[in-house]
Amino acid sequence: MSASQNITLLGATGSIGGSTLDILSRHPDRYRLFAVSGYRRMKALAEICHTFQPVYAVVPDDSAAEHLRSQISELKTEVLVGEDALERVAEAPEADIVVAAIVGAAGLLPALAAVKAGKRILLANKEALVMSGQLFMDQVKRSGAELLPIDSEHNAIFQCLPAQGTHFDDQSLPSSGVRQILLTASGGPFRGFSVDQLVGVTPEQAVAHPNWSMGQKISVDSATLMNKGLELIEACWLFSVQPDAIQVVVHPESIVHSMVSYNDGSVMAQLGNPDMRTPIAYGLAWPERIDAGVKSLDLFQVAQLNFEQADEVAFPCLALARQAFILGGTAPAILNAANEVAVEAFLANHINFEQIPEMCRYALDHISVENADSLEAILACDQKTRTICRSHLEHLSMHRVKAQ
Ligand code: NAD
Ligand code: MG
Repeated sequence: MSASQNITLLGATGSIGGSTLDILSRHPDRYRLFAVSGYRRMKALAEICHTFQPVYAVVPDDSAAEHLRSQISELKTEVLVGEDALERVAEAPEADIVVAAIVGAAGLLPALAAVKAGKRILLANKEALVMSGQLFMDQVKRSGAELLPIDSEHNAIFQCLPAQGTHFDDQSLPSSGVRQILLTASGGPFRGFSVDQLVGVTPEQAVAHPNWSMGQKISVDSATLMNKGLELIEACWLFSVQPDAIQVVVHPESIVHSMVSYNDGSVMAQLGNPDMRTPIAYGLAWPERIDAGVKSLDLFQVAQLNFEQADEVAFPCLALARQAFILGGTAPAILNAANEVAVEAFLANHINFEQIPEMCRYALDHISVENADSLEAILACDQKTRTICRSHLEHLSMHRVKAQ
C-alpha cells in the first residue's frame, strides 16, 4: 500500500458522509481527511472538523462561514465559501480521492471538477451522472479518472464483473459474456401498495425506509421507485449498456445488492448486510479490501431471500426514467430536476405522493429535449425545468386528492 491518501469529502454532514467518516476513523494511517463540505448543519460540520482536522471546510455562504469559524477558531482548518470552493477542493492537487456525496444537482459541478482533474472518484451523487451522462463519461475517459460507484447496487455490479479496471465501453460487457445486469430494489416502504392505497401517504411514512437509513431525498426516491429509475440510468452510463440489458428485480430483504447474469447460465451476486460502509470501503481501497466495521452476514438469521417483479403501474417513475434515457439529450436532466422540485414540495406537504410522478411526466411532456453536449445546455435545462415545475406546483396542489 502507498503512503496515506488525502480525501476530499463533499457532503460530509450527510448520511453517506457519516458512513465515510466512520471508515476513515478506522484507518487513520491509510487515509487523511483533506477537505470537507457541509450545507446547513454547521454544528455537525464543526464536530467533524474537531475530530478530523481537515485542511479545508467548505460552506455555502458568509453567514455559515462566520458560524463555523466561531466554533473552530482554535483549529488550523481554513473555511472556504461558495460553489467555486467546492470545485477547488475537488480538483486540488493534494486530493487523491474525492467522495461525491452531495445530494442532487448541486453535486454536479464539483464531481465534474474531480473528474477533469483525473482523481479517483467515489460516486454516490447519482443525480450528477443522470444529468450529464455522456459529458461526464467522456471526461472520465479523457482525464483517466478512476470512477468507482458506491451506490450499493452499482458497486455490487462492479464487484460481480470480471476484473477489468474502471473503464467500460459498449463491448466490455458483451465480450465478458455478460447477458444481463440484475438491478435489485427493496421496493421501499410502500411495496405492495395499490394505486388507491398510495393516495395520501405522508412524508413521514415515505422516509421510513424498511432496510436503509438514508437522507430524506433518496428515501422519498426509494418510495416512488424513482431511485431505481435514476439507478437504471446510472448503470447505463457506468457500464456502457442500454436499458434492455438491465432487469429490475425487487428484493425486499436488501441482502443481494445486485447481480450479473452470464451467457453460460451463471449468475454472480454480491451479498451483505445493508450498510453503505461496505461499498464505500470497497471504493476507497479498491482493489484491496479493508475492514469497514460491518458485521458478517448471518445467512441463518436472514433465512429467506425473496424476489418479485416491480409494479410499474403503481410506481410509474421507473418507466419514466427508462423513457428519459431512451429519449436521450437533456431528457434525463429534465426528469431529475422535475423530481427534485416535486420531492421538495412533497416533503413540505404541498403536493401528494402520487403527484411526484405526475410532475415528472408533465415536465417530460412539456419541455423540449435539447442536445446535452455542453455543461451550459445541461445547466440551462435544469434551471428552465425548475422554473416551469415550480409554477406547475400551484396547479398540482389545487388538485390534490385527499386520502379516504
Ligand atoms: P443527505 O441528505 O444525508 O446528505 C446530503 C449532503 O449534501 C449533506 O452533507 C448536505 O449538507 C449536502 N448538500 C445538500 N444540499 C446541498 C447544496 N445545495 N449544495 C452543497 N451541498 C449540499 O443525503 P445522502 O443520503 O447522504 O445522499 C447523498 C447522495 O448519495 C445522494 O445523491 C444519494 O442519492 C446518494 N446515495 C445515498 C445513499 C444512502 O444510503 N444514503 C445510497 C446510495 C446513494
Ligand atoms: Mg442504491
